Amino acid sequence: MNWSDFPRETVKCMLCGHDEPEILSVQRSWPVARCSHCGFIYLSSRPVESALEELYSSEYYDNADVGYGGYVENFNRYNSIFTKLFNRRAQDIEPFRGNNRLLEVGCAHGFLLDHLRAKKWEVKGLEVSPLAAGYATEKLGLDVYCGKLEDAGYNDNAFDVVLLLDVLEHLHRPFETLAEIGRILTPNGVLVVQCPWELTHWEERAEAFLKKMKPCSITPDAVPAHLYFFGPETLEAFMKKGGFSTFRKQSGNYGAIRRHIKPPLVNKGHFYERWARFFYYRMGIQQLLYNSARLIGKGNGLIRYARFQK
Ligand SMILES: [Zn+2]
Repeated sequence: MNWSDFPRETVKCMLCGHDEPEILSVQRSWPVARCSHCGFIYLSSRPVESALEELYSSEYYDNADVGYGGYVENFNRYNSIFTKLFNRRAQDIEPFRGNNRLLEVGCAHGFLLDHLRAKKWEVKGLEVSPLAAGYATEKLGLDVYCGKLEDAGYNDNAFDVVLLLDVLEHLHRPFETLAEIGRILTPNGVLVVQCPWELTHWEERAEAFLKKMKPCSITPDAVPAHLYFFGPETLEAFMKKGGFSTFRKQSGNYGAIRRHIKPPLVNKGHFYERWARFFYYRMGIQQLLYNSARLIGKGNGLIRYARFQK
């Protein structure tokens, strides 16, 4: 797959509607831009929606480059780490149980849903990849709709909790999705959004500084699958625009599993860089920083709990 070959469209800032992109870097031929008006960071030229839909419906979950390489194998191999993360998630959403009805939008193979079902949630899922949705329904016996949210036809007030984990940054029409989630949530229902804190996170800022690069020009994850690169402020503004008011913030850490699958390179760069890399990655410095960062709300995962303003 050549990531530069998708048909393109040029877009204005999704957050404020202005068309004043300042190009920060070009990644795989895609311009990562910051809106000069509101500071939102996004791909100012991006693949058209149908091109990415095709990608997600086929090889995404088996592509290590932009997607999730060998997702099922990794789940089985690192099951104890996944279980720990899932238990934490289950604990976090426990206060919002209501009538136990939960939907995960973008549930992939359904591993989290399977875990929550065992904790007495009535779970449903939605997934665009037929491969992943097929696994969830056939292997795990889950109720997973394969397609888009607007086509699923859920009733009004059908869910107490909706999970949108690592999905928002992929959506071409995010505000339509948020409005639909608002409709299917009960009036007191809770949306849980999780997405990476990209480009303005302290670790990337530090990396850019050390490499004498322009701030926010480090290669972000998964371009052009990620269309937006959120920070704490822009994510909240984004959700507010979508009709949701955030009432709880949490910090997460990406990378626990990735560190096992794809350990960061140590033998890279000149002599001093190798030593620095060795200390940072192998002597537990990164992990220590990550863990402390998460405690003070500076982890590289942004988790927000929000209610729709009906
Ligand atoms: Zn803007």
